[in-house]
Amino acid sequence: MENVFEFADELGPEKIIHIYEPSVDLKAIVAIDNVARGPSIGGIRMAADVSVEEAFRLARAMTLKNAAAGLPHGGGKSVIFGDPKMNPCRKERLIRAFACAIRDIREYIPGPDMGTDERCMAWIKDEIDRAVGLPTELGGIPLDEVGATGWGLFASVDVAREFCDLDLEGARLVVQGFGAVGKHAARFLSLKGAILVGAADSGGTLFDPDGIDVERLIELKNGHKSVLDFPRGKKLGGDDVIDIECDIWIPAARPDVIHEGNVHRLKTRLIPQGANIAITPGAEKTLHEKGVICIPDFIANAGGVICAAMEYRHLGKSAAFDAIEEKIRANTQQVLERSRSLQIPPRQAALDLAIRRVKKAMGHRRWAIF
Ligand code: NAD
Repeated sequence: MENVFEFADELGPEKIIHIYEPSVDLKAIVAIDNVARGPSIGGIRMAADVSVEEAFRLARAMTLKNAAAGLPHGGGKSVIFGDPKMNPCRKERLIRAFACAIRDIREYIPGPDMGTDERCMAWIKDEIDRAVGLPTELGGIPLDEVGATGWGLFASVDVAREFCDLDLEGARLVVQGFGAVGKHAARFLSLKGAILVGAADSGGTLFDPDGIDVERLIELKNGHKSVLDFPRGKKLGGDDVIDIECDIWIPAARPDVIHEGNVHRLKTRLIPQGANIAITPGAEKTLHEKGVICIPDFIANAGGVICAAMEYRHLGKSAAFDAIEEKIRANTQQVLERSRSLQIPPRQAALDLAIRRVKKAMGHRRWAIF
């Protein structure tokens, strides 16, 4: 059993709640990190191998992301233990049981994350009337379907271009995790001339130096197939995606995929982080020293949560896309300029920005310490 106080610092976590419902074998953890800016918003991750630590670190990333994005929301996250591809009836029972368990945890507004989707949010809305990332018929902006996070990643890359002297026309792109985030990022970037040369999912890696047809690959993935089923290109192991030489390498799958042990294998110039905490601090430091620009997760992948916050306020897709573009462009510019002028890694610049905003909000609270 992990000692949750090990994670405690000046920002949080405020609460870590373990949930167990024996009748449906529901095991879940809700981590509420900091609510000084407002009720926390954060996704529900379903995977077999999640942990308290993962829940807390993801919740912290949401605190920073929501503050950096200027949203009136704190950071929270939940994890449900289970295979996301389980029998749909069982999945519905689990999600509905989870919704009932969080009914009174009002400082947490759930949204989708890996292993959960709009349909899951509809079940939660039905149970407790509190969820974001809903399907359109329930007034939602289906953020995974429209590609809100991919749109934000595109905006961050477009700003970062001038910091690494990169032309999108002909830029070689690799995406690790060709799911909701990865495929839309690839779509928006390829519309501006980038060439997808590598794409990985949990089945393995597809590699084609001549370029992969992004729309066709998305079509195939939407049919619940693996990138390995694509008729063209070389089929490689999952880990081989790290070795593909490119200009832009997008992690859009799991945490800690790039670490001290494999960072030397990356041959790229720009890493907009689609996945949360995809690169360990040590590996990020190495990349910074090598001159590779890593746009931190909570700056680059805030599109989903900005969209969710707009939906929560009953705004539509075009207002959400405008807000995503405006906020992510401004933040990426600010972070990369500060990183360049102070010679500090972009993450340090981004952390300074977000923590300053959280602490300012904490200053208005009764238990304020700043
Ligand atoms: P998803 O489930 O739609 O897609 C994940 C993809 O990663 C799938 O194609 C899966 O096969 C692949 N994958 C899993 N393990 C892999 C591995 N070891 N190697 C290569 N590929 C692997 O999930 P998503 O919504 O696209 O989220 C991806 C990441 O982005 C997560 O870290 C999530 O927290 C983060 N994120 C998502 C959003 C969003 O709007 N969906 C927003 C912010 C951050």
